[in-house]
Amino acid sequence: MSRLIADVIVIGAGIIGCSTAFHLARQKNVRVIVVEKGALASGMTKRSGALIRAHYPHPVEARLALASVNFFRAWKEIVGGTCGWTPTGLVITAGENDAAELRAQVAQLQTLGADTRLLTPADLSELEPAARVDDLALAAYEPAAGFVDPALATQTLAARAKDLGVAFRTGTLVKNIRVQHNRVAGVETNAGPIDALAVVITAGPWSDRLLKPLHAPLGLRAQRAELAFFDRPAALKAGHCAFEDWTTGARFRPHTFGLTMGGLNAPDHESETNPDAFDEGIAPGFIAAVQARLAARLPALAHARYVRGHAGVYDQSADGHAILGHVPQIPGLYVAAGFSGAGLALAPAVGACLSELATEGEASTVDVRALGMDRLAMIAVPSAK
Ligand SMILES: Cc1cc2nc3c(=O)[nH]c(=O)nc-3n(C[C@H](O)[C@H](O)[C@H](O)COP(=O)(O)OP(=O)(O)OC[C@H]3O[C@@H](n4cnc5c(N)ncnc54)[C@H](O)[C@@H]3O)c2cc1C
Repeated sequence: MSRLIADVIVIGAGIIGCSTAFHLARQKNVRVIVVEKGALASGMTKRSGALIRAHYPHPVEARLALASVNFFRAWKEIVGGTCGWTPTGLVITAGENDAAELRAQVAQLQTLGADTRLLTPADLSELEPAARVDDLALAAYEPAAGFVDPALATQTLAARAKDLGVAFRTGTLVKNIRVQHNRVAGVETNAGPIDALAVVITAGPWSDRLLKPLHAPLGLRAQRAELAFFDRPAALKAGHCAFEDWTTGARFRPHTFGLTMGGLNAPDHESETNPDAFDEGIAPGFIAAVQARLAARLPALAHARYVRGHAGVYDQSADGHAILGHVPQIPGLYVAAGFSGAGLALAPAVGACLSELATEGEASTVDVRALGMDRLAMIAVPSAK
C-alpha cells in the first residue's frame, strides 16, 4: 500500500480542526488530511454551550472573537449552509466589586471596534424587564451576540472542506507525531503512517497526550463542566438575552425548543478529569445550584422544569488563555488548545490563523503571537529521532 502524504495534517475534527481544514482548503492549494479518532464534532464541540460573543478580556482573544462573530453571522455566504446562528444579545452584569473591571473591558472592546456598551441597572430593566437588577452596579450589553448549533457548524465546515478536496480520516487515532531531523515529519496512526510538511494539533483536552512525548506539554488541566436545560415558563416564552452573570457566577442563554441553558462561569470541580472516561451526566446538586443562580437574575426561572443536562471537559491553560501558534523547537508543528469554556466563539478566526501559520509561518487574520506557547515557559528541548 502506498504511503499517505499530505502537506498539512490536522489532528482532531472538532470545530477548530474543521475550521482550520476549511481555511486551508479555501485559501491555499494544499493537500490536507484531517485525522479524527472518533466522528466529526465528537469531542467537546458537541457538548458546547456555543455562546458566541466578542466579550473576552484578553485583547487578542477579543480580536479573534470579533472576526469570528462576523464569520458566524455571514455563514451562508462564506461557508454555505447554516451554523444555526440565533441572535440573542449578551448582558454581562457586575456588582460594586467588579464594576471597574467591566468598565475597562467595555472600553478596551470599543477601541477594538466591538459593538458593546455600558448599561445602568435601569437601562437593563428596560432592555430585559424580566431581570432582577437591584443587586447590580453596572451591566454591559453586546447586541450582536448569539449562539450556534456547534455540531451543525462543524459538519458544514467539514462538508465544505471536503468539497474543496480535504480528506477526512475519522475513526483513526494519531498515536504519535513523528519528528525527523528536528522538524515534524508526519504522524503515526492506528491505520499506518502519514507523511506531512506540517502538523496542526487541534485535539482539545487530548492535546497534551500528543505533546508530552515531544517534551513540549501545554500544561492543560482537563476540568469537568456541566450544562443544564430548563423549560422556559410562560413569562419567558418569547425568550430572553444571554447572560454572563459575574454577580451570580452563572452563564445562561435561551436555547432552541423553548429551553434555557445554563452553566457556571467557572467549573467548580477542582480535580482533573479524564476526557476519555468522565461522568457525562449532571452531578447531584448541580441542577438546584445552577437554577438558583439563574433565578437570582431571572426570577421567573425559579420553578422552571429541569429537562436534561450533560457534562463536558474544559481544556484549561495555566493562565486561563488560549494557546495558539507554533510549537517552539519543532518546526512545522502548530497547536491551538487551552480554550477552556470559550473556544467555540473563536473557532472561525483561530482556523484562519492556523491555516496561515501552517502555510506562511505567521498569522495575518489576527496577530496571535501574544497567545504563543513560549509565554508558558514550559518547553524542554525535544529529543531528535
Ligand atoms: C460544557 C461546555 C460548554 C462550553 N460552552 C462554550 C460556550 O458557550 N462558548 C464557547 O465559545 N465555547 C464553549 N465551550 C468551549 C468550546 O466548546 C471548545 O473550546 C471547543 O469546542 C473546542 O473545540 P476543539 O475543536 O478545539 O476541540 P474538540 O471539539 O474537543 O475536538 C478535538 C478532537 O480531537 C480528537 N482527537 C483527540 N486526540 C486525538 C488523536 N490522538 N487522534 C485523532 N483525533 C484525536 C477528539 O476526538 C476530538 O474530536 C464549552 C465547552 C464545554 C465542555
